[in-house]
Amino acid sequence: MRSEPSGPVLPGGAEPADATDPALETVRPGQPTPGSVGRVGPGAHEGLADEGEAGRRQRHELWMRRALEIAVTGPDDGAPAGTDAEPADAGALADIPVGAVVYGPDGAELAIGRNERELTGDPTAHAEVLALRRAAERLGRWRLDGCTLVVTLEPCTMCAGAIALARISTVVFGAWEPKTGAVGSLWDVLRDRRATHRPEVYGGVLETENAAVLRAFFR
Ligand SMILES: [Zn+2]
Repeated sequence: MRSEPSGPVLPGGAEPADATDPALETVRPGQPTPGSVGRVGPGAHEGLADEGEAGRRQRHELWMRRALEIAVTGPDDGAPAGTDAEPADAGALADIPVGAVVYGPDGAELAIGRNERELTGDPTAHAEVLALRRAAERLGRWRLDGCTLVVTLEPCTMCAGAIALARISTVVFGAWEPKTGAVGSLWDVLRDRRATHRPEVYGGVLETENAAVLRAFFR
């Protein structure tokens, strides 16, 4: 169940670079390269016949729907117990709808975050950073190894840095972001061969739906 490749996420954006550049070949064995999930191109059909691969894809799509729900409705609605959710108000409506969820090693939802830059006036209040912070608070430690971060839009450099510092094991993102994406588009911070921590990355999950939400916002 792959989504069709869609056009640029934001007006005027170009298609993201694909990871056929040898410089980007820092992936572990069996790890998908950017563009292998939900996109046409080399490797796009790898593993489709494998049941484990299909199960993983299904799980990622399910998790992405939750992140998408958070992006659209704001953290006030459907927030799990124990998270500090801000009420959705006019400020929240001005924020670019990006949602993130951190799942524990057992697949349990640990924390959510929605982009709150306008709402809080905080330049670092991206969905990923807020979700990481809340997940760490909940677990009582900064190390989030074994956890998966799911986000509706390709993370920026700041968020990719925060993901690496939190030792997140797996990153699943939705729409590609050719202008600022730091997980395969403009940069590949998480799979740079010089990095000591390199999470698994699955990009373009439910890309069409995620891109549509962003396009609707900027319309
Ligand atoms: Zn960010």
